[in-house]
Amino acid sequence: MNPVYHKELLLKDRTYVWHPFTQMKEYEDRHHLLIERAQGLYLYDADGRQYYDTVSSWWCNLHGHGHPRIKAAIARQLDAFDHIMFSGLTHAPGIELAERLVQITPTGLNKVFYSDNGSTAVEVALKMSFQYWQQLGKPQKTKFVYLEGSYHGDTLGAVSVGGVALYHELFKPLLFHAHCVPAPDLRQVDRTASRSAHEIAEIALAHLRELFAKESDTIAAIIVEPMLMGAGGMIMTPAAYMQGLRELCTAFNVHLIADEVATGFGRTGKMFACEHASVSPDLMCLSKGLTAGVMPLAATLSTDEIYAAFYDDYAAQKTFFHGHSFTGNPVACAVALESLRLFEEEHVLEQAQDTIAALAAALGDSGLAKLPHVADVRQLGLVAAFDLYEDAERRLPFRPEQRIGAAAYAAGFEEGLILRPLGDTLYFWLPLCTTADDVRDIVTRTIRVLRRVLRLSE
Ligand SMILES: *Cc1c(COP(=O)(O)O)cnc(C)c1O
Repeated sequence: MNPVYHKELLLKDRTYVWHPFTQMKEYEDRHHLLIERAQGLYLYDADGRQYYDTVSSWWCNLHGHGHPRIKAAIARQLDAFDHIMFSGLTHAPGIELAERLVQITPTGLNKVFYSDNGSTAVEVALKMSFQYWQQLGKPQKTKFVYLEGSYHGDTLGAVSVGGVALYHELFKPLLFHAHCVPAPDLRQVDRTASRSAHEIAEIALAHLRELFAKESDTIAAIIVEPMLMGAGGMIMTPAAYMQGLRELCTAFNVHLIADEVATGFGRTGKMFACEHASVSPDLMCLSKGLTAGVMPLAATLSTDEIYAAFYDDYAAQKTFFHGHSFTGNPVACAVALESLRLFEEEHVLEQAQDTIAALAAALGDSGLAKLPHVADVRQLGLVAAFDLYEDAERRLPFRPEQRIGAAAYAAGFEEGLILRPLGDTLYFWLPLCTTADDVRDIVTRTIRVLRRVLRLSE
């Protein structure tokens, strides 16, 4: 890129742009990284430097950037028609994608309601559950349950069921009340060596059973991120918890909402995280990887039973009055369909198993887990995470002002990595097209970042 233009752009970035999740003052005397090109696993900055996209561009990208078949699908759909509304009109990409989603998601999810991002997919699920109970003659079932540390998006309904204090606490006065229950954090297996994953699941389920026993008459649904709670710090949870949750929801007549916005489409090694536990939820939220991470699109899937409670004469006033301007965008639907064809024709999920095994091996062999300050190295599929502590043994955190995670992000650039932290938790959230060689290279570079940031000798 022309250096003068490059500089001008970055000045305009500061003048005109307000970036998400960003304290803009941190950029008072430094620039954002300006990306000019992306191909496969790599992003390229305006100086031509190459970076591994180890976070899949905020957990979205699946098949790498600039995939020729994805680009062709966009061009084909644009040639036919661009955006049209999805209320009172319909189109082939929206119809065919709905059919495919019903086929590949857990059994029982038979209806697809589109929106355009993860938060709206969650809002739709919450409102559907609420309205279902209103129309079923149980108007007192209005409350929701969420897990401590959970994240379901940034719109106010989603924030009401959010359990991350840093993002959610401030907005409390604006939110509807929801019950918070403890999460079965698998890190407790390491910390309290005497407890198994199963016991950790049981302890969390006991809290929920107690809540349901007392309050289920007023509870519409519980929302969970199955197996992996992302934004709360890459908290991994046992399959037994999901199974117990399904049983309790059925027994107490409470909807189970699976928020697979982040975990869907192969990231955990299975197409959907619910499959690790062989569980079918009543409502499922999808976005991020739905379009291979290339276009904004979301879907909320529901059971026939929920759908049936809305199906009536217009005068019965059971219509679901919800929709967004870009609901079911045809270009996004066409991309999502092409991504699902890729899964099938190129055996994407089968191929990824080698990478997943290589990631496990690299985490073990590289010595990463044995570095001072590193604790709780964990992995599920193509996601791996670890936490940095002042004293890893005793889990004493660094002082917040040390900004260790942020320092790792900056040092990552020097090693050709986009290594976006969550506080002092570092993680990889790898595209499905990552190879075993890529994984080893990424882990090696990460260790160099850690040595630099933690000032460790070679
Ligand atoms: C990212 C995310 C959302 C919100 O999706 P947006 O598209 O950012 O609104 C919801 N749930 C989970 C689990 C997520 O990771």
